[in-house]
Amino acid sequence: MRLTRYTDLALRAVMRLAVMGGEDLLTTRQIAEAMNVPYTHMAKAISHLQHLGVIEARRGRNGGLALTDPGRRTRVGELVRALEGDRETVVCEGDHPCPLAGACRLRYALRQAQEAFYASLDHVTVDDLAASPTGPVLLSLGRAPD
Ligand code: SF4
Repeated sequence: MRLTRYTDLALRAVMRLAVMGGEDLLTTRQIAEAMNVPYTHMAKAISHLQHLGVIEARRGRNGGLALTDPGRRTRVGELVRALEGDRETVVCEGDHPCPLAGACRLRYALRQAQEAFYASLDHVTVDDLAASPTGPVLLSLGRAPD
């Protein structure tokens, strides 16, 4: 099972924000630079995360992005399901559909395996991802050296 790059960079944004205190905000550009992701790709993922209620934009002179409280408690499996959509692990239809597509035991088994993969990620919350040793590294990203 391989995640799309889009899902991975959205998770990078979530992790970067998870180490911030409640009042400390970041801009999309700061997150993109810290996580080594093109700005336009990060902006698209952040817009999706806002739509999912995981991230919120706070306005004001020092405005920026923060995780919402429910976002911080979100289970990673639930988040990955939402980001990946209904993508299957194999492409059975399309321009050259597989003749077994309507009645394939392998397809069913792969769906079961995919669900087990997501379920195992449901044991981890977004907040858990920011614990040590990842947290200190996340905090150091995008900072000028002392
Ligand atoms: S063999 Fe089954 S899983 Fe593989 S492409 Fe065909 S329908 Fe899909």
